[in-house]
Amino acid sequence: MLGIIFGPPGSGKGTQAELITDALGTAHISTGDLLRAEAEAGSPLGREVAPLLKAGHLVPDELIERVVEQRLREKDAASGALLDGYPRTVPQARALDMVLDASGRPTAFVIFLNVDHGTLTKRLLQRAAKQHRADDNRESIAERLAEYRDLTTPVLDYYRGEGVPVLEIDGSGSVEDVHERIVEALRPLRTEAR
Ligand code: AMP
Repeated sequence: MLGIIFGPPGSGKGTQAELITDALGTAHISTGDLLRAEAEAGSPLGREVAPLLKAGHLVPDELIERVVEQRLREKDAASGALLDGYPRTVPQARALDMVLDASGRPTAFVIFLNVDHGTLTKRLLQRAAKQHRADDNRESIAERLAEYRDLTTPVLDYYRGEGVPVLEIDGSGSVEDVHERIVEALRPLRTEAR
């Protein structure tokens, strides 16, 4: 089963993806984590993307499409995967569809974590104080939220148009409450898949 967790920066995608993949026993593929690891390792790819990550800009579509295609070929993704932070543009969604069509496994669901703008900024600034992520500063946060609004939100309509179930989840409140809501929303799909 291949699913996508979708939402603005600060919506809790990473945390919720971790909980869901632990429960489902599928691979958690976070493109942000993959890119940060490359940047930290100082690989050629990492050196290319580090300034973009720091400024809060999306990396080029072709680059991230290659990274994900490779990652999906790894053994742990064979039985299923949850994509976290990908696709973030309509061209990325189309590229993913081509890869999935070729491997005969369609996108099963999109979990959309909906959180209001004020809460997002507050959460991202709190995370900045705790985790010291290079892109959690005020300018970069504003840039990431703007890119999300302009480039990423159209991805939801793309999936709706393709007939993929988009499960809209209220992402406010505690980690546990949001997780419960996701489990409930996924239940009918999991029953269907059996
Ligand atoms: P995240 O951890 O998902 O917030 O991603 C951190 C940063 O990695 C983003 O601000 C982008 O610079 C980059 N990134 C992650 N996923 C993508 C993607 N699908 N397309 C373009 N850039 C991405």
